[in-house]
Amino acid sequence: MSTHRVTVIPGDGTGPEITETTMKVIEASGARIEWETAEAGADIMEKYGTPLPEKTLESIRKNGVALKGPITTPIGTGFRSVNVAIRKELDLFSCLRPCKTYNGVKSKYEGINLVVVRENTEDLYAGVEYAPDTEESRRIIELSKNKIRDHSAISIKPISKEGSKRIVKFAFDYAVKHGRKKVTAVTKANIMKFTDGLFFDTAKEVARAYEGKVEYEERLIDNMCMQLVQKPYLYDVLVLPNLYGDIISDLCAGLIGGLGIAPGANFGDKIAVFEAVHGSAPKYKGMNKVNPTALILSGVLMLDHLGETAAAKKLENAVAAVIMEGKTVTYDLGGTAGTREMGEAIIAGMKGK
Ligand code: NAD
Repeated sequence: MSTHRVTVIPGDGTGPEITETTMKVIEASGARIEWETAEAGADIMEKYGTPLPEKTLESIRKNGVALKGPITTPIGTGFRSVNVAIRKELDLFSCLRPCKTYNGVKSKYEGINLVVVRENTEDLYAGVEYAPDTEESRRIIELSKNKIRDHSAISIKPISKEGSKRIVKFAFDYAVKHGRKKVTAVTKANIMKFTDGLFFDTAKEVARAYEGKVEYEERLIDNMCMQLVQKPYLYDVLVLPNLYGDIISDLCAGLIGGLGIAPGANFGDKIAVFEAVHGSAPKYKGMNKVNPTALILSGVLMLDHLGETAAAKKLENAVAAVIMEGKTVTYDLGGTAGTREMGEAIIAGMKGK
């Protein structure tokens, strides 16, 4: 069995607690991992003068695979999102978020098995923003022929054909590889005719190559929100530009019982970074309280990616069994166990105890 070298970024807030537990359960799954710890986040600002030191990016580039805890982004002021910066710097253009119901989780829905594929590098998330009354925002207001009110702050929404093509292709390839039947592209192309319109036009073009293998359809984002709440079973793989993908991911996490169990992965051509959908939940920092499942299931995706399918299956089954039993689960799943205790129960399950 080969050893895999993986960069691990504990993050900040509750990140270090769930990362430590996740590393332990991954080690107990039988896969051989050599961890290389790298730092990022609010806690290292003072030490390095940046929340994302170059050597952290170098470590991910070198190893090609990283497991990442959540990282806090200050609202309004302070540094820009480190999570977004990692995705952009490493060109991790696709974000995969499977949303699957585990028996034992209290939720209004049963049997959900959806996959959200979110574009990661473009859209309003590109970070092209202008503060009010700057030379740039004034020029854009002028260019808009006064469609934009004076003194406005402005965010730019770039969507490219190339960016749209590679994310839609990723969604279709994922569907083929995992035996999925349908890809639904989601935008607001009736209003944003050029940007979202380009996404739909490109998606249609890409879909042609998969005719007969995977079905293709389009939905508008507002309608999609209602449909997902009323009839989530009609959908299979969803592919969306960045911002809609972000919002729909949380909606889908809600369908399966909350953020505590929603895993994620970011893929580029050669690099993959695995992280939970949720954030750093800073109010619970250091309390051994939050659910480690989302990051553990991101670890399951990582093991699959590394070709450790037996270890991945073993770990996922152990997580499912602990959730189904409901005795050693965290508060969000109706239990009283801590982060560590839930991890220990998962490990005990893998050892057959
Ligand atoms: P959050 O996901 O951190 O937490 C929202 C709430 O969801 C929490 O208060 C908690 O009640 C619940 N929750 C989240 N994770 C949980 C878990 N593992 N177990 C149990 N309950 C859980 O969202 P937020 O409060 O909006 O964001 C906090 C910080 O995290 C912000 O700075 C945000 O920018 C950042 N963030 C980071 C990432 C990332 O690292 N990829 C993603 C989203 C948000």
